[in-house]
Parts: sequence; structure tokens; C-alpha cells
Amino acid sequence: MKRRKVLILCIDAGSHDYLAASNLPTIRQLAKTGFYVHANAVIPSVTNVNNVSIATGTFPETHGITTNYHVDRTTGKGEFIEDNRFLLAPTLFETAKAYKFADKTALFVTKKKLLRMLEAGTDIAVAAEDPPPEYIDTVGPVEPIYSVEINWWLLRAVRETLRKDDPELVYCSTTDWVQHKYAPDEDLSQQHLVELDRIIGEIIDDEPAREIYITADHGMLEKTTTLDPGRVLTERGIPASSIPIIKDRYVAHHGNLGGAAYVFLENQADTSEAIQVLLDTPGIEEAYSAEDAARTFRLHRERIGDIFVLADKTTVFGELEAAVEPTAVRSHGSRHESYVPIIGYNSPWSATDFEYNVDVGRLFLESLR
Ligand SMILES: [Zn+2]
Repeated sequence: MKRRKVLILCIDAGSHDYLAASNLPTIRQLAKTGFYVHANAVIPSVTNVNNVSIATGTFPETHGITTNYHVDRTTGKGEFIEDNRFLLAPTLFETAKAYKFADKTALFVTKKKLLRMLEAGTDIAVAAEDPPPEYIDTVGPVEPIYSVEINWWLLRAVRETLRKDDPELVYCSTTDWVQHKYAPDEDLSQQHLVELDRIIGEIIDDEPAREIYITADHGMLEKTTTLDPGRVLTERGIPASSIPIIKDRYVAHHGNLGGAAYVFLENQADTSEAIQVLLDTPGIEEAYSAEDAARTFRLHRERIGDIFVLADKTTVFGELEAAVEPTAVRSHGSRHESYVPIIGYNSPWSATDFEYNVDVGRLFLESLR
């Protein structure tokens, strides 16, 4: 029997508008031969939540990663999530090994923190910002994390590894610095995707029978207003603070401004009143108690604060000096960036099997069992 081999590529912020604005002959051909689905990302539409969802085939209610920044309810202390201590589900790699699907598994990401979150069960694990020395010899020198070149480097590393080691299961996730800086019709956005498309073409020429899935973790839109939900509430006499879910150490991407936030109340008895105040605030589109948010978005009940808020299309949340400030930033996190493509090639499934990007991992897992 022919050995089944799978490549999952998550183009960070690779939404339909970005793909459609560039001339991408390989992706066009994959979509034509296989399928192209307009699917949903997991909300909050941020990188780690979605990558972990795809790479475990589960929603945050199961895998536990709901944010980049975890706040301990009992101590009130916050910390960046930069390894797998908070991860509650096995990775696709671990399951593929357990079910003897793969002799060899490989993970390629740009940032070390995502590598540390997902590396369980991998034989090969490469972070482009700090690669193993032998990769520098074959793929080229390390590129800056704030560049388009780092994603090209990453996909070349995938190509070389497929040639040399032939792993059965490969997951690759790029980074979204380009989309944070440039709109879909701008030159650098287009160059970025055209080169990725070209390398994908080389991978397929090498190995035409491999199953390929191309999807995204979220989209990216222009924002004009920043809002601090914690400050909005405090100014109305409800003591609270809020954590933008996007918050991480890579501030050059987004200035920690994103379209979703978890609100922590000093008194949980204020919940209904706080939700009403937030819903009446221009820029806030949705506000849910933790119970309702966990149920609606399949989030982990203990890791989403007291209230989950989603911004409208042009608003982002941040930790500010005032309740509202103007801004000019491209970012994500809200429902408006939660629409992503799924392109499948050589897939045993059809377009209608995919509703969420998570389904790429979920269907793969189910097929192993
Ligand atoms: Zn992302």
C-alpha cells in the first residue's frame, strides 16, 4: 500500500483577500484540482489559539490555549504563554506516532514560543528565528523575525526536509509581520505570497502525491480606534481590568492591539451590569459572560476572565492611558478576521467536510483512529 503523507501549511494571516490580491498559480492550480473552501477560524482570531487548534485538531475548550497571556485567577499574576505547560491536548504529531501513522514528524514555525508549544511528538522541529546550524548550511542565513524573508526561509526549510528526511506528517506555520504592515494590494504583500507560492510549487513538483492543506489562522484588517474595556468599566464605577488576547513580546507586529479581550472584574456580582455597559460602548460589538463565551466559542471556561468582548471591524482593544484613543494599525482578533480559506489537494475529504480550520487537524486525527 502507498504510504500516505501529509503537509499542513498555515499561512499566518493568509486570508482570502490576501490570496485573491496576488497572482498565485500554484495555489490556483491546487484549488482547481482539489478544493477551496471559505471556512471559519477559531475566535478569538489570534495566532496561537488557531495554530494550537489546527495542530491538535481540537477547540480551546479541549486544548486550553485561549490567549497569548495567561492570568492566574488566584494570584492575579500574568505570564506569557511560551511553552506547552498550559496545553491540555496531544499534538497531531503525538497521535500520529501513537497510531503508527508516521515514522517521522516535522514542525516548522517562525517563532520559538510556538515551537515549544507544539513540539511534543516531533522528530524534526525548526524555528526560523533560531534554527539548528545544519539548516543554515542548506537553507541560508537566519533572516530577521520582522521580515518577509523569514517566511521564505521557513518554506525552503520545509522543502529541503521533505527532500532529505521525507517525514510523513509536516506542519508549517509562517508569521504575519507582512500583513500587519501591508494591505493585500501592496507590493510587499504580493511579493511575499508569490514567493511562497513558487516554493509550494517546487514541493509539489518533488512529490506530486503528498496530501496538502493550506489554511490560515486569521485574517487582518485596518483599525482606526483603540479602546480599553477595563478603563471603560472603571470610569463607570465598575472596577475592572482587561487583557488584549494578542498581548505578546512581539510588539512590532501589532503594538499589543487586537480585536478581542478578556475582562477581569473586581466583583463578579457586577457581571450583568458590566456586560450592558460594554454592549452600549461604541466599538464593542459582542460581550459575553465566561459561561456564554465558553459555550458559544468552545473556549476553556477557566481561562477567559469574567467577560469576553469582541470589537467591531475598525476597533482594537489595548491597555491605555484613556478609555478611547485613535490609532492606525492593521490587526486581528475579532469575528471580522475569523474567516479563512482551506485549500485541499490529494485530500480524501471534500470541501463540504470543512467548516473550521480546526477540521484540517480533526479529520486527520479521526482518520487515524
Ligand atoms: Zn497569526
